[in-house]
Amino acid sequence: MSNLDLRPSPTTCGGREEVSAAPVREFLQPRTVPLGGSTVVRRLLPNLGRRMVGAWCFVDNYGPDDIADEPGMQVPPHPHMGLQTVSWLHQGSVLHRDSLGSLQTIRPRELGLMTSGNAISHSEESPRTHARWLHGAQLWVALPDAYRHREPTFEHHPGLPTFQGGGVTGTLILGELDGAASPGTVHTPLVGADLALDPGADARLPVQPDFEYAVLTMEGTSEVDGVRLPPGSMLYLGCGRRELPLRADVASSLLLLGGEPFEEKLVMWWNFVGRSGEEIVAARQDWMSGNRFGSVHGYDGDRLEAPELPATPLKARGRVR
Ligand code: MN
Repeated sequence: MSNLDLRPSPTTCGGREEVSAAPVREFLQPRTVPLGGSTVVRRLLPNLGRRMVGAWCFVDNYGPDDIADEPGMQVPPHPHMGLQTVSWLHQGSVLHRDSLGSLQTIRPRELGLMTSGNAISHSEESPRTHARWLHGAQLWVALPDAYRHREPTFEHHPGLPTFQGGGVTGTLILGELDGAASPGTVHTPLVGADLALDPGADARLPVQPDFEYAVLTMEGTSEVDGVRLPPGSMLYLGCGRRELPLRADVASSLLLLGGEPFEEKLVMWWNFVGRSGEEIVAARQDWMSGNRFGSVHGYDGDRLEAPELPATPLKARGRVR
């Protein structure tokens, strides 16, 4: 998915200033962002005062939307730099095309993982003949400096490992949790897991004290560390936990996102993650002039134009030590 804000604001993030070393329960309100047509997404990250959770730097949640008489998701070719995109669906399917030549339908609970390296472009669309409901999340993971200039790759993992206990079934999207490990490639210590809670679920999930965590509710209303979370909301949990209490009276599902606090300072703008304003400006220029990001074949429509840059220069904030 692309950031389709017509005037995206730059975000500086990374470093430890925002990271809570102790457990906290910080409720994050979503911001509604139009995504073309009738589709709107709920943006949870970046959020006011909370821009990253580990290397997770962007979280959009959408649906369930009735797209029976709609084209559904139609995101034209657009570029990425310095990040991985994770497509995660509960209902519906998305057809992914990229400048490597990948053509892949991603279905519910399958991992579509695109690692941009220095440059890739892709499109995402609901297939012409599609299911009635579309429900999912689009997540970005920032790449550390040592990996962000590598060649782009695309991975599709249809069969992900699961674990069970206390009425909770977990599916590993990325990283490891409770003895299960995702085959998806990661470049910093992090975890992403889909947690399905049965009615009456009561579990204590083993987590790592050196990771910070957040949970996003996809369906139903569950209690995370005693906090009731309605669908579409996110709770930031900080670091310092060894277990995470989960309860549900009704069938519910959550996305758990966590990781080691991301130390490097970043500049995020539109679909790019860089280390300086100059890098972002150069990436935008390369996309607009048709360089570096390759081309996506087979998408029925024009590619996305980059928005105008903000008037103020983009700067990564220095690390506070
Ligand atoms: Mn995208």
